[in-house]
Amino acid sequence: MKDIVIDIEAEKTEILKRYRALLRACKSTLQKGDKKLIRKAFEMALESHKGMRRKSGEPYIYHPIAVAQIAAEEIGLGPTSIVCALLHDVVEDTDVSLDDIEREFGKKVALIIDGLTKISGVFDTNSSLQAENFRKMLLTLADDVRVILIKLADRLHNMRTMEFMPRDKQLKLSSETVYLYAPLAHRLGLYAIKSELEDLSMKYMERETYQFIKKRLNEKKAEREKFIRDFIEPLKKVLESQELHSDVFGRPKSIHSIWNKMKKKAIPFEEVYDLFAIRIVLDSAPEHEKAECWKAYSIVTDLYRPNPDRLRDWISSPKANGYESLHTTVMGPRGQWVEVQIRTKRMNEIAEKGFAAHWKYKESSTDSGLDQWVQKVREMLKNPESNALDFLDDFKMNLFSDEIFIFTPKGALIQLPQGATALDFAFEIHTDVGATCIGAKVNHKLVPLGYKLQNGDQVEVITSSKQTPKEDWLNVVVTAKAKAKIKSALKEEKRKIADEGKEILERKMKSLKITYNSDNLHKLSYYFKLLSTQDLFFNVAKGLIDMKDLKEYQASEKVVENKPQDKIENDQVQNLLRSIKTKDSDILLIGEDMQKIDYKLANCCNPIPGDDVFGFITVSDGIKIHRTNCPNAAKLMANYGYRIVKARWTNQQELAFLTGLRITGIDDVGLINKLTTVISNDFKVNIRSITVDSDNGIFEGSIMVYVNDTEHLENLIKRLKMVKGITAVTRFDSAVEVAS
Ligand code: MN
Repeated sequence: MKDIVIDIEAEKTEILKRYRALLRACKSTLQKGDKKLIRKAFEMALESHKGMRRKSGEPYIYHPIAVAQIAAEEIGLGPTSIVCALLHDVVEDTDVSLDDIEREFGKKVALIIDGLTKISGVFDTNSSLQAENFRKMLLTLADDVRVILIKLADRLHNMRTMEFMPRDKQLKLSSETVYLYAPLAHRLGLYAIKSELEDLSMKYMERETYQFIKKRLNEKKAEREKFIRDFIEPLKKVLESQELHSDVFGRPKSIHSIWNKMKKKAIPFEEVYDLFAIRIVLDSAPEHEKAECWKAYSIVTDLYRPNPDRLRDWISSPKANGYESLHTTVMGPRGQWVEVQIRTKRMNEIAEKGFAAHWKYKESSTDSGLDQWVQKVREMLKNPESNALDFLDDFKMNLFSDEIFIFTPKGALIQLPQGATALDFAFEIHTDVGATCIGAKVNHKLVPLGYKLQNGDQVEVITSSKQTPKEDWLNVVVTAKAKAKIKSALKEEKRKIADEGKEILERKMKSLKITYNSDNLHKLSYYFKLLSTQDLFFNVAKGLIDMKDLKEYQASEKVVENKPQDKIENDQVQNLLRSIKTKDSDILLIGEDMQKIDYKLANCCNPIPGDDVFGFITVSDGIKIHRTNCPNAAKLMANYGYRIVKARWTNQQELAFLTGLRITGIDDVGLINKLTTVISNDFKVNIRSITVDSDNGIFEGSIMVYVNDTEHLENLIKRLKMVKGITAVTRFDSAVEVAS
């Protein structure tokens, strides 16, 4: 018993500690009497949530305190919002009524709490929910926009503390968050919260990718930090000497945005260069803001060469959500593009916390600043058609571009790829629902199976017990799941029919006095140009092959003597294999066997001696040698394992092999000359071709050279990397699809 008493005492201390931290966080916005009001709200929340605990086992009151702290610290809201945040779950979860709230805190607070309670009903029950409904709801509920902001703070804290939730709840909250809350935060200019919500959703929805990127970021951290230090140091010196007081630092990009870039550009993590941005935050007087930002820009571009295409001036014309900043991309010391963001302290705060931060800087009455902002937000919500403020479009824009979210009639979210149809949706729900689907209602309107779904559609599937999957359904669906299910249903159907056909054929053959055995069945299949005996049975059952056809076969039987196509191909393969195996081992030795066995180096991966290779027996072009890491290797090995031949290089040759090098660097006069000197003179290597691309100071070249083996190649790469101005040299393979 004693333990529990001590526990509760410790908790009490912790609660008070957290409460005091909250007070410190909102200190700057507090006026006379505010502190008393917050205290009262805290006590009411503490009392009414008494004994309640979160899934983690912590006292429930930690949650409203944390939400209030986010509202104050991360969104910059004032005392009324802090009172509401502390009380946000009271009416919904405890005995306290709205009247109680109104009596104690007045009408304004009661209205906000009422809005919060209604919103939470909308999100947390299974009601149907579409983007348009969502917008309307926000519009009617958000008579006071603080309702939405506190709801965002609430969601952020729930996402931050989600690890104790069951998996299905985690997924539901995450998909809602990425679908509704993150775009909303973006729309309201709350960039920091938007990024965190996206990262947290990804952490639960794409666990492996999230951890993978996180791990990679950590591995490169020291290197990145050194780069940032080297980049910033000279910049700081000049800024100081010009008396621009500033804070200069590197800002990591969010995991979610890195992942988006990888997907959008189809590149691996290693090729994402902008893992961070450099930010210069100036401490400027209001009247000097713009001039000083441009002065800083001038300093940055004196030190580093800018890319003129990537200058963004959101100071002269701020974004609709209030974002102000100057962005430029410059060439860093190691030939790498670096984004630099220049802004003042005020602009930075607005960018991080949204417009709520704005009124802090308005000298006049505190309320009018907030009112103006509320007005702005309301206009945004009211005006989804207007170009700059297209609310719904923004929703779509912020989603994974290749995925859509569809609602079931009960309001559950289903994620499908872009282009998915009503039939895909049906199979996503359940195989049986898909197999018996005859149509669907989308947003209460009847549509055919092939109807292409739009983001936010609500779909009800209509089924009939008489329906069965059809062949042409395969052209209607896009998801792998639906395709596989349809195929297996069709196969099953076909198998049943073929079984009937088998009996029919047996009878017919008997009456024609053709022996029923597998040899004759194969001959029949071949005669009717069918791929398998099952196809033969199927065609018989369907009446496509009848007695007359069988008689014709019988008549031609004497002249026809054939092997199935596959057999011919197999013979070729066997012949080639035999000629290799006449040697002591069954390994193809490349170089030595050159004359005896017909083989070529595949031009999809250009293997050179030293590479790990295998031989692949083609139908018409002898043996092709591929690298084991050739982009086609996995496909070949998986599909045609019997055509793979082990291969090894012999080492007594002095032949030259063609390979490609991709070279990047900082454009410099004479760079090509330096490169060719190293390759031709120092290494005595022949160059077949050079193509060079120079773009805004970046040099990109492809060089095809002849080398002897991998060691030779590695030495050449090493030497090229030492040429001044070169940042990277990599081997590449021309991506020619191999003919198998
Ligand atoms: Mn809550």
